[in-house]
Amino acid sequence: MGKNLTRKILESHLAKPSAMNPGDEIYVKVDQTLTHDINAVMTYLAFEAIGLDRTQVETSVSYLDHNLLYLDNKTPDDHIYLQSVAKRYGVHVSRPGNGICHAVHVARFGVPGKLSMGGDSHTPHGGSIGMLCIGVGGMDVATAMTGVPMRLKMPQIIKVNLKGHLKPGCNAKEIILEMLRRVGIKGGLGKVFEYVGPGAAGLEVSERATITNMGAEMGATTSIFPGDEQVRRFMRAQGREDQYVEMLPDEDAEYDGEMEINLDELNPLIACPHQPDNVMPLKDAEKKKVQQVFIGSCTNASYSDIAKVALVLQGRHVNEDVSCTCAVSSKQVYKQLLRDGYMEMLIDAGVRVLETACGPCCAIGQSPATKGVAVRTSNRNFKGRAGNPTAEIYLVSPESAAATAILGTFATAEDILGADVAKLAEIHEPDVYPVDDSMIIKPLPEEEAKQVEVVKGPNIKFLPIPEQPTEHLCVPVSLKTVDNITTDDITPASAEFSSMRSNIPLMSQYCYHRYDPEFAARAKEMGQSIIIGGENYGQGSSREHAAINPMYLGVRAVIAKSIARIHKGNLINHGIIPMIFEDPADYDKIEQGDELEINGLLEQMQTKEVEIRDNTKGVTFKARLELSDSELEVISCGGQLRYLKKQLGKE
Ligand code: SF4
Repeated sequence: MGKNLTRKILESHLAKPSAMNPGDEIYVKVDQTLTHDINAVMTYLAFEAIGLDRTQVETSVSYLDHNLLYLDNKTPDDHIYLQSVAKRYGVHVSRPGNGICHAVHVARFGVPGKLSMGGDSHTPHGGSIGMLCIGVGGMDVATAMTGVPMRLKMPQIIKVNLKGHLKPGCNAKEIILEMLRRVGIKGGLGKVFEYVGPGAAGLEVSERATITNMGAEMGATTSIFPGDEQVRRFMRAQGREDQYVEMLPDEDAEYDGEMEINLDELNPLIACPHQPDNVMPLKDAEKKKVQQVFIGSCTNASYSDIAKVALVLQGRHVNEDVSCTCAVSSKQVYKQLLRDGYMEMLIDAGVRVLETACGPCCAIGQSPATKGVAVRTSNRNFKGRAGNPTAEIYLVSPESAAATAILGTFATAEDILGADVAKLAEIHEPDVYPVDDSMIIKPLPEEEAKQVEVVKGPNIKFLPIPEQPTEHLCVPVSLKTVDNITTDDITPASAEFSSMRSNIPLMSQYCYHRYDPEFAARAKEMGQSIIIGGENYGQGSSREHAAINPMYLGVRAVIAKSIARIHKGNLINHGIIPMIFEDPADYDKIEQGDELEINGLLEQMQTKEVEIRDNTKGVTFKARLELSDSELEVISCGGQLRYLKKQLGKE
């Protein structure tokens, strides 16, 4: 039987032979890495600590794109460090203003058939061009940069057969919201969604990117489209057709599962607070008064997205009770929109045009008002994601966001344009983008790079190293959480907090700040402790600070009903033992402050089952370590940095 595209790419990158059955641990050689400014300082501090002279992958890129608000010294200190450390170690830098990492990466670096790992959960955006792109923690990126093969659990590969065509006024956002409605935020765990069929063939790269990008919201390992004629056209428009490689699944490809979506049947959808799978038809949503509209983010700020917004707004005005902002995904897209007159339409309509950056998407500016209703084209609507936990965030397509900005309540493009909505179908991505790579700093030759001084301003503190696990652990429970705790709950997003990410002693004081303001002080006072979590603990952003901060505060283990994939990896990398309740009902028996005791921890860990006694309640329960053998080795060493140094003989 034939092979699907995901299998072909993984097979061509295998570092050790494997049968590649779902669930098998495989080792793959990575071609590309990417990082972004608010996560990357720890990644490069780790890479420096490993002691190699240069990145060992074909292409490493450091994007300065998330936090471009220089409110004090912290962010400029970070950016200067990131720029100098990139120069020192052979890494490209995309400077502030060049655009959002995923949009720029696909446009300027992506190549079909390559394997990329990025320190951001939306790295799968690159699956839009037939590339296998996986979001991981920052320590994993540092590991990939050493050239050491990366371990990966062989995913199940699910065929998503797309049929038909999107109606005018419907966006690729409808397809991914429909996926989320069907499978939910945990439905993609351990899976790759491979989109094929006539409906997929008709989608342009920017539309495909909306879908692969937001596959992260289903917890998927990644999502991918074929490297077909659409990709060739995109790469030609980027002046890179010579790098195009056709990457298709075999006609008789086998898959581990199959789904089908008929695009003709889709209508505008909306994801309601506070989860991206809380999806319903937009026309059925309660008509709330909307205070803020944000059109932007890596998910939905392409040329065609913004041009369609402009056509909905043309000759109309943003409602007087709405603050409407727009951040285009990249400099080249911005320039083309300017040339074609679309930015003028936005400005005339009263849209506030922001710089090309993530900005409001990760709560860096444009926070909604108290209990405000915000409509966004981005990918996440967790409580507090926009910087204000009292706000309600709704996710829609750019066309629906523009219509909502005009009426001040949820609306579709058809509500505004009537039969004229058909004109939106005439908008396509440009045949030629105004390519200008002057905002990308290329790596120096190796000998020259060795002379570069890495600049560490006062905001760049040390990289905390976890302790190795001990034979006997007897510690209190510092926190018991509810289900679906996000990494935003653990380490909040906002300009203020993002600029603290290089300074763990400071940032850790705000760990769980919005969920339980006393947690940080309590955990510190306890010295060492355990966190009890519910289902899907650590979902959402790949933010490894959600592991680093608790580790710095002395958290030695998390025992939960289930743990989200990227967060579990981050816990392992940073020396926190992730455990799963053998019987989820045991969760109810434990309370914050209980003393938990584990005897013979190291020995028990080897069996992947640990017996824990709650000394306060006088009960004993079991927890599983759902870890591969190598993950077990890492956690037994006390985290990835210690493990890697041992592997590379750099101890
Ligand atoms: Fe930036 Fe938002 Fe995309 Fe993350 S999801 S890369 S914060 S635009």
